[in-house]
Amino acid sequence: MSYADPFVIPFSGLKPGIHEYEFFIDDEFFRHFEYSQIKAGKVTVDLEVEKQETMLVLNFAISGTVHVMCDRCLDYYDQPIGGTERLIIKFGETSYEETDEIVVIPGTEHRINVRHYIYEYIHLLLPYKCVHPNDEEGISLCNPEVTGRLGQSSKEDEAADPRWDELKKLL
Ligand SMILES: [Zn+2]
Repeated sequence: MSYADPFVIPFSGLKPGIHEYEFFIDDEFFRHFEYSQIKAGKVTVDLEVEKQETMLVLNFAISGTVHVMCDRCLDYYDQPIGGTERLIIKFGETSYEETDEIVVIPGTEHRINVRHYIYEYIHLLLPYKCVHPNDEEGISLCNPEVTGRLGQSSKEDEAADPRWDELKKLL
């Protein structure tokens, strides 16, 4: 970890009060995380760091679009994301996560790298299901070739699966 890393906040040198940072996330950012569900995107993160006597309060405001795979047709599309996340950093003997929102780091630390937190928050802001939106006429923008085929095969599976017949008898 070096001071050249833009995601490192050297908090020990900060005066008490609010300090603002801005990060521009691009494809390069996601390449640092081998198993990232997101491979590309353009996201702006406005970070407000409030230094208090005994802790730091970090407020992240995240907005942009990320390139993700559609759960329905498996093509990639641009998913808009946006939201805020808060991280509270307290000081203690060792490092541990007190809750999802509160982490404790050793009192001897002078800086914190927020790269991984931003990465996690961007993923948290993804919808539960990532699916192509509809166009103005309400028609799904999913790849019609794929969804057409998927629709067909699932009907065939249903007809061929003997468990469905058993289920129908029960009903
Ligand atoms: Zn789709």
